[in-house]
Amino acid sequence: MNIPGAHKIKNLFLAARARFPQNEAIILAYHRIFAPKTDPQLLCTSPRNFEEHLKIISQHYNPISLQALGKATKVNKVPNKSIVITFDDGYVDNLLYAKPLLEKYRIPATIFVSTHYVNKKKEFWWDELERIILLAPALPEKLSLSINKKEYTWLLTNQKKHNQHLQKWDVLQKPKNDSHRLYLDLHTLLKPLSFEKKEIILQKLASWARVQNKARHNYHVASHEELIKLSRSPFIEIGSHTVTHSNLAAQTQEKQSYEITQSKKYLENIIKKPVNSFSYPFGTHNDIGTKLPSMVKKTGYALATANYPNLVTKRTDPFLLPRYLVRNWDGKTFYKQVEKWFNGE
Ligand SMILES: [Zn+2]
Repeated sequence: MNIPGAHKIKNLFLAARARFPQNEAIILAYHRIFAPKTDPQLLCTSPRNFEEHLKIISQHYNPISLQALGKATKVNKVPNKSIVITFDDGYVDNLLYAKPLLEKYRIPATIFVSTHYVNKKKEFWWDELERIILLAPALPEKLSLSINKKEYTWLLTNQKKHNQHLQKWDVLQKPKNDSHRLYLDLHTLLKPLSFEKKEIILQKLASWARVQNKARHNYHVASHEELIKLSRSPFIEIGSHTVTHSNLAAQTQEKQSYEITQSKKYLENIIKKPVNSFSYPFGTHNDIGTKLPSMVKKTGYALATANYPNLVTKRTDPFLLPRYLVRNWDGKTFYKQVEKWFNGE
C-alpha cells in the first residue's frame, strides 16, 4: 500500500538518524576484586583500582543495570555512553570488596555465579592448576599423563628456583620456565574436558606434585548466606554462569540444557528472586557456538553476555551481548581504555 507522504516521512527519519550519533553502551567484564600475590589469568582488579574505576564511571558515564540495557536494546533505546558492570564466576570477594564500593557510588552490577561451587569452599579448576603447578615449592622432573586417551609426557628440567614462584608471571607473558609451559599446556588440554574428567586429572596432578587439596582463603565462590547478602543489595543482580563452568560448546545437548536450566533453578531457590541474566563460560564465539543463544532464551532468561569486545547498540542481539574485559588498571588507564572503546578503537 502506498500511503501519501510516507516516503517523505521516511526521508525525514533517515535524515534525523544521520544527524544524531548511534547511542552506544559498554558492558565491562570483571572477575575478582582482590589483590593477590600472583594472578596468572589476570582475573583480579585491586579494590583500590576498582574504586578509581567507579569514580570515573560516575563522573563521565551513565551507569545502568544489565537488565535495563537488555530492555533498552529490545525497544531500540540504548542510552548513550552507558556503562554496565558485570562479574563472572561468583567469587566471595565480590561480596567482601565489590559490594561496599558499588553501594558507596550507587552503581549497579550483575554477578554471574557457577552454582556447583556454591557452599563448597572449592577452588575453580584454573585456580587449582595455578596452586598445583605454579605455587608448589618444587615439582618432580617428569610428568606422564593420559588425557582423553592420549599420552603426554613433560620433562621439567628448567624449573623455577626457590621462591621464584613469588615472581609475577601471567599468561600474556612468554613462559619463563618449564613450570609455566606445563601450566599453559595443561590449561589448554583441561579447558574442553567435562567437569568430572577435569577433577580426576587435577587429583592426579596434586598427588604427583605432592600438593594438598585445600582451597586457599578467599579463593572460593560465595556461600548460600553470602549470595543472599549480595542479592539483597538494591545495586546487585545475581545471574547464572552455568553449574560447573564447563565449556558449553564442547558438551552434549543434554549436558548444555542441564547447565543452563539447573543453575537458574538453584539460584532462584536460594535468593527467592527470578534469575534473568546468563553468562556463557569463557564466552568466545567458539565457546558459544550457534545453538546456545536460542537454548538460553527458551529456558526463560532475558539476556546473555559473551566475552568478546564490542559496543552494544540497539541492533545488538540481547542473547549475545559483547563485553570488554577489564584488567587491574589504575583510574587513568581505565579512563583512556574506556574512551578508546567508545571511539571504536
Ligand atoms: Zn567464568
